[in-house]
Amino acid sequence: MATNRTFTMLKPDAIENGHMGKIIDMIIEAGFHIKAMKYTQLTEGQAKEFYAVHAERPFYSELVAYMTSGPIVAAILEKENAVADFRSLIGSTDPAEAAEGTIRKAFAESKGRNAVHGSDSDENAQLEGAFHFSEAEIF
Ligand code: UDP
Ligand code: MG
Repeated sequence: MATNRTFTMLKPDAIENGHMGKIIDMIIEAGFHIKAMKYTQLTEGQAKEFYAVHAERPFYSELVAYMTSGPIVAAILEKENAVADFRSLIGSTDPAEAAEGTIRKAFAESKGRNAVHGSDSDENAQLEGAFHFSEAEIF
């Protein structure tokens, strides 16, 4: 069943490069409602768990080091068709392949340092949101 929520993180490169405000504005302008939001830094354990699905991939240790290198903004977003629409808004993993007008096209540095995370399914949106937020932090 499709739900109307997705989960995002503005990644350390986006924060470091001063793009936090512009990215949040693009998300709101695209019609997403912010249900929960947190400025935080992932521990190594949290990053490893969050990206456990990629544990066997060659970029895993680099990904964990990058995602723990500085603060992130985590958020739960709501909109009709949230997961698919948010993936469209962020664009392809590799900014070289991302469409004009997408967040990654505008702000990602590289395929690894790509500014923003977006859940890839309703099931993962639910799991990832619950990983970062308690029910009392969701409005
Ligand atoms: N990643 C990487 N190298 C790759 C593929 C992915 O460093 O060749 C990183 C990148 O930060 C990406 C994350 O791992 O966003 C998760 O990869 P996934 O394939 O799930 O891409 P996404 O769903 O973020 O577009
Ligand atoms: Mg993914």
